[in-house]
Amino acid sequence: MDCTKIGRLIAQLRKEKGLTQQNVAQALHISNKTVSKWECGLGCPDISLWANLSAILDADISQMMEGEISRNRPDSGNIAKIRFIVCPICKNILASTGPSSIFCCGRRLEPLVPTMDENAPCVTAENIDIDTFFTIDHEMTKCHFILFAAYVTSDRFFLNRMYPEQDPTVRIPQIPNGQLYLYCNKHGLVVYKIPKIPETPVKINGTNCWSAQIAVR
Ligand SMILES: [Zn+2]
Ligand SMILES: [Zn+2]
Repeated sequence: MDCTKIGRLIAQLRKEKGLTQQNVAQALHISNKTVSKWECGLGCPDISLWANLSAILDADISQMMEGEISRNRPDSGNIAKIRFIVCPICKNILASTGPSSIFCCGRRLEPLVPTMDENAPCVTAENIDIDTFFTIDHEMTKCHFILFAAYVTSDRFFLNRMYPEQDPTVRIPQIPNGQLYLYCNKHGLVVYKIPKIPETPVKINGTNCWSAQIAVR
């Protein structure tokens, strides 16, 4: 462990949180001289203190031990580049508009990579009033179902959480030229390009997700 780097990082994180050396010392039941020593690089925190220290400073413990907190590249502001993340343990659904470091249930999670799966379900799209109804040709049983459907445009996204036994239909405000993402609990994430939906309902074929073939039903 590089005590100089770690000490500098502790001081930086402490100041970001608006804490004094005394505040940190009290929370850890140690003397403020010890905190001052770490920050000067004259020794590293004892292993028994790391968990509480990372909680007090709201920082990732493994990155703190490295003495460097990695920063993600700034968010480009383009919602169309959204990434979806699903925790494999608790099925928490997360969306991120820029690169991110995400942890859930104690695990580091990577964004899902949408595929162009030839078995991707067919989707029927139909405009009714101001909304588009997407009906997904996919079972909704307890062990095999669509967990979420999301509709993404350049500046906004809509997320529909779905549940087993429900109808495989989602209703989204009518906005052309977006992308429809579907996440199946068994087969992962697929994406469809959605052009302007014509008057009559259309089928969007899953075999070529990125240039969806449109055929009148
Ligand atoms: Zn989780
Ligand atoms: Zn499936």
